[in-house]
Amino acid sequence: MTRPVTARVPAKVNVQLAVGGLRPDGFHDLANVFLAVGLHDEVTATPADTLRITVEGADADQVPLDHTNLAARAAAALAERHGIEPGVHLHIAKDIPVAGGMAGGSADAAGALLACDALWDTKASRDELLQICADLGSDIPFSLVGGAALGRGRGELLTPLETGGTFHWVFAVADGGLSTPAVYRECDRLREASGGGAGAADVPDPEPSQALLDALRSGDATALAAAVSNDLQPAALSLRPALAATLRAGADAGALASLVSGSGPTCAFLAKDPEAAQAVAAALAASGTCRTVRITSGPVPGARLVDA
Ligand code: ATP
Repeated sequence: MTRPVTARVPAKVNVQLAVGGLRPDGFHDLANVFLAVGLHDEVTATPADTLRITVEGADADQVPLDHTNLAARAAAALAERHGIEPGVHLHIAKDIPVAGGMAGGSADAAGALLACDALWDTKASRDELLQICADLGSDIPFSLVGGAALGRGRGELLTPLETGGTFHWVFAVADGGLSTPAVYRECDRLREASGGGAGAADVPDPEPSQALLDALRSGDATALAAAVSNDLQPAALSLRPALAATLRAGADAGALASLVSGSGPTCAFLAKDPEAAQAVAAALAASGTCRTVRITSGPVPGARLVDA
């Protein structure tokens, strides 16, 4: 195919992020309940002599344009498996905050894979695409799958979850990002400092909350709000204390739940309905505690090709 191919990929919020102890390989076992939400990046693949990346969007200057870009790595991995040259220009239209705890880089990797698979006609199976995603990063398989899912292992072993309705969210985007590895290190440091230890033998095995899974299945926002949790939140707050004021502003405005999204610093607010989401968003915008406020909902589908 020589026409450009565009893939659209959603962001995620973790409605539960239970983090086990530090494993000898440096990872943590997780019980990670992902929900795909309606902020999207678009990745457009066009034939080119070499692998080239361009990015547009408010955070574009924070995205690497070299071979470390996750979209470039995904394209290179697919090409290598199929014994072809990764000749492609990948243009990323970025709407997901960078280093914001919403899996923006993962979204671009999943989008690049889908778009290049169509452009190069490599006809990779779903399992092959999922395998490449898992090899590239823990959150990337979910970007491909979307909806709602439980991630075990490092988060890459996915079980799709049923959801009984649409949940309404407000996201408060912070100025500047947080490094995910730095937040995990801070989580370990806080666990050590509290005297409990941070190793796999010191921390209970992470388990999904049955109340949370039930709330997702029934579509009950109030029950979901009571069950959400994020073990990385204390670490994100420790590294970025100003987030406490953001969380408070959303809670004061009537959010059913206020939590840090993944490794942060984006804060996520669950609202009862679209009107409540508008009220929470207006209060957050007026609070001066964040850079931008976004209203959206989930679950939404994972990466898919769109007409350019
Ligand atoms: P997660 O929620 O999966 O932990 P995140 O949303 O916090 O991730 P990303 O937006 O994925 O963070 O970016 C993390 C870092 O990855 C960035 O600081 C950037 O240097 C690097 N990166 C590589 N490729 C990309 C990409 N395509 N888009 C954004 N960042 C990328």
